[in-house]
This record gives sequence, structure tokens and C-alpha cells, in this order.
Amino acid sequence: MNEVLSILLLGYREFFANPKTWAVFAFIAGFTALACAIGLRKRVLSAAALRNTGATLAVLSVNLLLAPVVYVIAGKMLALYARFGIPSVSQEFWAGVPWIFIALAGLAAKDFADYWSHRLLHTPLFWPIHAVHHSDTHVNGFTTFRVHVLELVLMNVAYITLLTWLGIPSAMIVAAYVFASMHNAYIHFEVDVDHGPLNWLIASPRFHRWHHADYPPAYGKNLANMIPLYDILFGTYYRAGPCLEKMGAEREGIPGTDPARLILLPFTLWARRIGQGLRALRRLARPLA
Ligand SMILES: [Zn+2]
Ligand SMILES: [Zn+2]
Repeated sequence: MNEVLSILLLGYREFFANPKTWAVFAFIAGFTALACAIGLRKRVLSAAALRNTGATLAVLSVNLLLAPVVYVIAGKMLALYARFGIPSVSQEFWAGVPWIFIALAGLAAKDFADYWSHRLLHTPLFWPIHAVHHSDTHVNGFTTFRVHVLELVLMNVAYITLLTWLGIPSAMIVAAYVFASMHNAYIHFEVDVDHGPLNWLIASPRFHRWHHADYPPAYGKNLANMIPLYDILFGTYYRAGPCLEKMGAEREGIPGTDPARLILLPFTLWARRIGQGLRALRRLARPLA
């Protein structure tokens, strides 16, 4: 029993023992304090914002409970990959390369993997998983934690596989992850900040707010987490002025603040789609009058 409990609590221990967690929390708290100081208190601490943040933290706590599953799957992937001796870039390749270039290569590769994982999550088959992230109607720094555990599995396996295949040293993979997490909290802040001439290179809160807008021309656009150049290259870039559209995915009748329904959401949406498919098949099989 104690052993089961200790495995169940592993996710929480890893999360709270990790300095990155506190760095991201401090970053969000700092932003919130700053926003209050410059008169945005009503916006960042409104009842709607607090309700959505509460739901986000509830989803996060369930994810932490399931985190050991993520570690097990990621570990198994890497073991399989090593066992089959899939040709890959050796770590020696990076010996002598200045650390800043390795870090930049690691970031660019991680964001490349994240872009394609995210694009996959916007296809009809995988959207039910990602709808949880898009369900937030008050996007803020905490929205970065509002992801279904199945999304965590997919994103982690994809980028860890690519970065280890490239021979990027583990310390750099961790550094890329920490940096990307901080940047991910930043692009969710409820401010309309843009990066001017650097918009193509570094994602801004405005860039990502358009991604969360419940606005048809922007659906499935601005998929990169960090480097919008991938959107430009692969045809998914959306650029407009300040984003004043509503946030969320109410088009699908997705619950914004009910944690239990959010955790079950992928399964209910898949069931709904299968039901619709079966009804359409039945209509096709109906004899003509
Ligand atoms: Zn998305
Ligand atoms: Zn987001």
C-alpha cells in the first residue's frame, strides 16, 4: 500500500522538487503582481480568471498523479530506441561546439518536434485530446499547465526522441525544456504584446492569443510554441492586429471550468464522433423510398 502511494505521489514529488516548477510559478506570480501594479487587477484577478485558473490547477493535479505513466512510456521509448541501434548523431559530434550553439540547436529541434506534435493535435482524430488546452476562456500563465495527460505523453515522447536522436547532451535537453516552459507561460499571459521585427523568430503573447481565439480564420494557425518561422515555412502563420476575440473553444460545447468533464473530454468527444459516424453509415444503408 505504501509502495502504491509512493508511486502515486512520485509525480507530485518530481514536480515540486523541481526548481523549474518554482521558476515558472515565480514568473507567473511576478507577472500577476506587475499587472496589478499597473492597474490591470480587475482583469487578471477577475472571477472568470480565477474560475478558469482553478480548473486549470485541478487538471494539473490529476496530471501529476498520472505523471509516472509519462516517465515509464518515455523511458521505454528510449530503451527501445537504444536496443534497436537506430543510427543517430553521436554525442561526440557536439564535443568542442560552443554551448550556446548546442543550446540553440536543442531549442530549434525541440520546437520543430513541438510544432508537428501540435499540428497533429489539431487534426480531427487528435483534437479531442488538445481541446482541453483550448477550453480555457480566460487564457493566462496557468493555461500552460492545462493539458490533458495524453497530450503530455505525445509531446514528451516526440521531442525527447528527436533530441536524443540528435545526440543533444541531457543537460541541454533539460535546459531547453526549462526555457521552453518559461516561454510557454509567457505567451499565455493576458497581455497584447507583440515583438515587432522579431515576430517571425520569437512567439509573442499576441501570436499565441490568436491561436486560442474562438475565431474561424485563426483556427489551427500559429502552431509553433517558440519559433513562428515554422508556421511561415509550413503555411500556418496568422498575423493580425491586437487580438480582441473571445478565447476558448465554445464552438464544440467544451466545458471551461469543470475539471472532471475536462479530464474525460477526449473520451466523450471521441464517443460523440463515433456516434455521428455510425448514424451517417446507417443513413447510407437505409433503402431508398
Ligand atoms: Zn492548439
Ligand atoms: Zn496555448
